[in-house]
Order: sequence, then C-alpha cells, then structure tokens
Amino acid sequence: MRLYNTLTKRKEEFTPIEPGKVSIYVCGPTVYNLIHIGNARPMIVFDTARRYMEYKGYEVNYVSNFTDVDDKIINKAIEEGVSADVISTRYIEECKKDMADMNVRPATTHPLATQEIPGMIDMITNLIEQGYAYDVNGTVYFRTRKFKEYGKLSHKNLDDLRSGFRDLKVTGEDQKEDPLDFVLWKPKKEGEPYWDAPWSKGRPGWHIECSVMAKHYLGDTIDIHAGGEDLVFPHHENEIAQSECSNGVPFAHYWLHNAFLNIDNRKMSKSLGNFFTVRDIKEKYDLMVLRFFMLSAHYRSPLNFSAEIMESSKNALERMINSVDRLNDLIKAAEAKQPVTAEPASCTAEEQTKLEEMKQYRVKFEEAMDDDINTADAVAAVFELIKYANTEVTEESTGSFAALVRKEILTLCDILGLIVERKAEVLDEEIEQLIAERQAARKAKNFARADEIRDQLQAQGIILEDTREGVKWKRA
Ligand code: AMP
Ligand code: ZN
Repeated sequence: MRLYNTLTKRKEEFTPIEPGKVSIYVCGPTVYNLIHIGNARPMIVFDTARRYMEYKGYEVNYVSNFTDVDDKIINKAIEEGVSADVISTRYIEECKKDMADMNVRPATTHPLATQEIPGMIDMITNLIEQGYAYDVNGTVYFRTRKFKEYGKLSHKNLDDLRSGFRDLKVTGEDQKEDPLDFVLWKPKKEGEPYWDAPWSKGRPGWHIECSVMAKHYLGDTIDIHAGGEDLVFPHHENEIAQSECSNGVPFAHYWLHNAFLNIDNRKMSKSLGNFFTVRDIKEKYDLMVLRFFMLSAHYRSPLNFSAEIMESSKNALERMINSVDRLNDLIKAAEAKQPVTAEPASCTAEEQTKLEEMKQYRVKFEEAMDDDINTADAVAAVFELIKYANTEVTEESTGSFAALVRKEILTLCDILGLIVERKAEVLDEEIEQLIAERQAARKAKNFARADEIRDQLQAQGIILEDTREGVKWKRA
C-alpha cells in the first residue's frame, strides 16, 4: 500500500513499525458547535483508510481527540452563561451522533485534552529542562530555533518565516525571545478554566495537547498522523518540534493531509453565508449521501460542495441501493423454491466462470485503495461491479450466484463505510406509538427516555417538531 507523505512530498510504500499493526492519530474537532461538513471530510476519509487497513488484516489503533479547552469554547460558555465543560460535553455528544449517522466508527480512543493535563505538564517540564522551552511570567514558550529541523513538514524555511513575522505587531507577545516561538502553557484569565502547574495556574496551548495524547495512547513514534491540510503549519510542525525534542525519536513516519472542502467553489465561512453543519445536510439527505459525496473524490483533491453535486451523489448511491434491492428480491424468489447456500459449488458451471470474472472488480478496487487510498477509483470499481450485477444476475440465475454477487457488493461497500441496504420503512402507526410513549415519558419527567425515542426516530429518518398543537412529525 502506498501513501503520500507530506513529510517527503511523495508516495511511499507503507511499512508499519510493528508488522501487522498500525497506529494512527487524527486531529479531531474543537467542540464549541455542531461540526460542519468540512470537519466531516477528515473523519470520513481517515475512517475509510482505517477500514481498508483492517480489511487488509492490520490491527489498527486509531486515536482521535476532542479539543475541549479553547478560546472558542470559553467564549461560547460565557455567551450562554454556563461552564466550558457544559459546552464541550454537549458538542462531543452531538459530534458522536453525526459520526454515527455518517457511519464513521468510534476511534479506539477519543481522548479529551482536559483529561491529559498531567502528561502535558510532564512534557513541558522536560522541554524546559532540556532548554527547548522557557517560562516568562507564567507563560511557557517553545524555543523554535533550537529545533534544527523546524519547517521539515511544511517545507518552510525559518528565515522566510521570520521575515513574515517581522511585520506582525503582536501586542502582549513581546515577552517572546523570538517571534517564531509558540506557546506551550498560558496563565488563566479571569473566569477561564485552569489547572495548577509549576509556571502558573493556567491551561495548555493547543499544539502540546496532540503531542501528549498521541504519546499517551500510541507511543513516542507512531505510524500515521493525519488531519486537514490547514493543520500542516503551524499545528503539525509544532507537534513535531515538541514531540521530537521531548522524546528524542521521530514522531510520525507518515503524515497524511486531506484537502479542503469548498462550497460552490468558495471557501466555506459563516460571513459568506455558505456554511453548513452536518446536521443541516441531514435535514435533507440521509448522511450516507454525504459520505458517498466525500469518497467520490481523492482525499488530496479539493472538493467542491453544491446542491447539484449532492443530488447526483444521492442518485448514484440510489443506483447501488437499487441493485442490492433487486438482488435481495431475486434471492428471496430463489429461496422460495429451495434453500440458498451462497456457495460457488451450488452455482452452475457457467456462473462459476462468471464468478471468476467478477474478481477483476475487487482487484481494481484494491489497486485503487492501495494507491494512496484513491476512493474515487475504488467507487468507480464498485460501479463496474454494480453494472455486472445488473446484467449477469437474472431471474434464471441460481440463488447462490445472486447471493455471492450481493456479498461482493456489500463487502466492498462496507470497506468504504457505505451502507447500501435499504433501511426498513417505519410504519406510521409505529411512529405514532413511539411519539405517545415519548409524551408519557416527558410527563413522567423521564427526559432520558424521551430523548432516546426522539434520537431513535431521527436515526430512522423521522423528524419530530414540538408545536403548540402537539407533536408533528415528518420523514426526512
Ligand atoms: P477544527 O475543529 O477547526 O480544528 O477542525 C477539525 C478538523 O477538520 C481538522 O482536521 C481540520 O483540518 C478539518 N477541516 C476544517 N475545515 C475543513 C474544510 N473546509 N475542509 C476539509 N477539512 C476541514
Ligand atoms: Zn492536533
């Protein structure tokens, strides 16, 4: 399997540190709001990489953090008059719901920055002891120039960076020895969450959090570190500096970065009014459509989001689902006549030859995925298989042949995390019954059960609306 490594700027054969095992760290979201569709891109593409590696037999230790202490979280907490952890806990839960709807599997570990402060204090202490960091009035900075390899990931030259910084008037930062130095620890301001540390009561800088969480859960050297391309500089460059100076060994062997998602060919931003949360998309589409859309491009290509592209993604996914539907019907019809074993031996001689032909699609699929996780080509291979299924499996086919073709489609789609079996329709009376149970639970102040019912219905595509006239519902 070859992966494009941002560190070396080329595709390299992937060799894990320990044969058969992969350690991967993916920078997760800062939890101060519902995640947006840009955040969903690294989640989906690296989840797919993980699924493919597992399919190839690797045992994958996949760690992705939640940044739960940050200015944006603190500001939101002030705005709402609640504590910062109310905000972060709420949005972690919401993020996990979105992940589930996008069929993004939970990480092996989802560490929280606020739970890892002792490790951060240890790493900062170690950096100070080695002369890589210094404390000025309670703020600790990393001495960037002392790390000779600084800039190796972003391929930036220290002197160019320095001249870029010269024009910046950074008030309050004049205590730094050098404009390139960055913060490891900062003293608290009034009303902010803080922890006791040898330098001040305060909180960690963002970069140190990931260095420490990767070390804690994966070790000093990890196989793969991933995230969006905006993180290459300074976040990942700073992570490398901290980790390598503190641990004395290379931090990550392969650095993978996804390109950005744009909206109608413009950068997504709140001020441009073209900002979509994953939840916004869910109002209109099953989130499998969003996943399909993300995988229809290579992760290193910029991806453009538009209403038309979502519609065509929906139609393309529907083609896959229809094909599986048809196979299910054919299998059911065959089962009515005799049991279906789904064994090549129970297929006709002609079908066995066709099964041999079918292997070419899996070969193409694997070639694409082995080539730097080219999901665009992998999806194309699945469509070739779909076309094959639609033409080669007929009413005359044995049930076993139909079942084997269906299994092949489901196997490849599962690697991509695409669910292509049609969800069972929920009947109107079942919905009414659950709504009544929810009302009763609310009356009894059993809000946990009431929320559970709402979430269950939501997962089945039923949206509830509490109105003055009572609860109304609609299908998404
Ligand atoms: P943040 O919460 O901003 O730290 O972002 C979490 C993850 O989402 C990071 O890996 C970012 O690089 C990634 N990300 C943010 N915006 C976009 C976007 N528009 N397209 C692709 N990835 C993004
Ligand atoms: Zn990070």
